[in-house]
Amino acid sequence: MVTVGALERLRETHRRAITGLLASEGPMSRADLARGTGLSRTTISSLVGDLIGTGHIVETADRGRPHKGGSGRPPHLVALSTPHGVVAGVDIGHGHIRVAVADRAGLVLAEESASLDVDTHGTDALDRAARMVRGGLATAGVDRTELLGAGMCVPAPLDRRSARIRTGIMPGWRHLSPADELRRRLDVAVFADNDANLGALAELGGGAARGAADVVYVKLASGLGAGIVLGGRLHRGTSGIAGEIGHVQVGEDGLVCRCGNRGCLETVVAAPRLLALLQPAYDEELSVDSVLELDAADDAGVRRVLDDAGRAVGRALADLCNGLNPEAVVLGGSLGRSASLAAGVRSAIDRYAQPDAAGAVRVVPGELGDRAEVVGAVSLAIARVAVGQGVG
Ligand SMILES: [Zn+2]
Repeated sequence: MVTVGALERLRETHRRAITGLLASEGPMSRADLARGTGLSRTTISSLVGDLIGTGHIVETADRGRPHKGGSGRPPHLVALSTPHGVVAGVDIGHGHIRVAVADRAGLVLAEESASLDVDTHGTDALDRAARMVRGGLATAGVDRTELLGAGMCVPAPLDRRSARIRTGIMPGWRHLSPADELRRRLDVAVFADNDANLGALAELGGGAARGAADVVYVKLASGLGAGIVLGGRLHRGTSGIAGEIGHVQVGEDGLVCRCGNRGCLETVVAAPRLLALLQPAYDEELSVDSVLELDAADDAGVRRVLDDAGRAVGRALADLCNGLNPEAVVLGGSLGRSASLAAGVRSAIDRYAQPDAAGAVRVVPGELGDRAEVVGAVSLAIARVAVGQGVG
């Protein structure tokens, strides 16, 4: 007996055959679709009717060749409907804003970044981000009304219930809900998440963790955080704190952290701290880029400091590897591409994690570099806009 469910699955397979053929061949008549799929004309007509109804395909104004030997009018062609509209991705870091405007397939049409003291100037940063989105739309030649939604990330955990930044970490953002603020400025739906979470999403979708199911993405730049993917899905935790390895205690009497605690891992390994450690030994003013160049050139002091930072991060990751047993640790953020840092992370995981957990995990640099967060923000916007419209 054929069940209703099985019939529907069969129709779904046939609908996919039709959209697949239209994607590869371009506009076609119903007769050509029948020939191309091997389905009957009646079945094709019914399925094409379904797909026009759901908005996946459209009847074009063009007509095909007349039926062979027939005297009737040439048939109408059908084509895949091009999804209209664009989305924006907004990556707000501690010291930068990066904005991308992309079509609904994720193709970036315009991208721009700017340096800014984000932490202490919440409303200024949001004003600037909104202006950059409008600038991106203009660069892409897209009207403002075409913007369907935006994804954004902030470099701090967001409370899952209030969508607000937890107080303390970014003083200029206290009491602000980043998504609401940007929504007000852009007049479209805005979806916000933590930066490391969106970096994880991006590396999972089209970067170093493509195809993996259990991944820890580490973002090491002016701060330190991790995005955790379990079973192919982001794991945010009950209140949105999952992955906050930057505030693991590594010394009770250490430096005071911006979270209010002392001796957090972030105070030992964040980029400004590493630059401050190295600076006295160098004549030129150091930046993250110049430090990475020195690392690539095998500079002994830089290698030592980055390897030590990697070991400190790897020590915390070793515990996470024991707890979560991931298949990959992806190193992202501006420091993520340092070979010395990666070597330090690897050696600490090998030393402190259970041998089975350490043996199962790859430690790899991110493929998207410091673009990962903005790419993740675009992906978030595409996914949420599609859900809002009942597609996907
Ligand atoms: Zn802290």
